[in-house]
Amino acid sequence: MIDNIPLPATDDPIDSEYWKGTLKSKLLLQCCRRCGRKRFPPRPMCPDCQHADHTWEEVSGRGRIWSFTAPQSPLLPAFEALKPYVTALVQLEEDPSLRIVGPVLYEPRGNIQGVEASRVYIGQKVSVTFKDYSEDVAMPCWVLQSDN
Ligand SMILES: [Zn+2]
Repeated sequence: MIDNIPLPATDDPIDSEYWKGTLKSKLLLQCCRRCGRKRFPPRPMCPDCQHADHTWEEVSGRGRIWSFTAPQSPLLPAFEALKPYVTALVQLEEDPSLRIVGPVLYEPRGNIQGVEASRVYIGQKVSVTFKDYSEDVAMPCWVLQSDN
């Protein structure tokens, strides 16, 4: 658990399945029933074909860093206590247009605090893990993989 960080609401019908998945260490994305395209973040309608029906499908959780930052002060007080840390935008291997943000870890279930930006680079392989932020919120985090 991490104290005092602002947490998302997990009971919105648009994305509640996503949050249920993260609690089970699964990365679930909406998949359009008409065109089959996956989308993130969750939304009511497919951005490609405007169809509303969808399923939820688990994706691999593997991807590459598309961008990252090492936030500096001033930060919200809850994040100030965590620095240094790195937050990455990761493109999933299933579809590079699917990008998910999260903190970078050296190892599964590792610490957010203490990750050095000098060890992170664009294109680096990562895999998802999940960190409990409260009893009903687990957030995806990205574990650095050894070089290709
Ligand atoms: Zn579609």
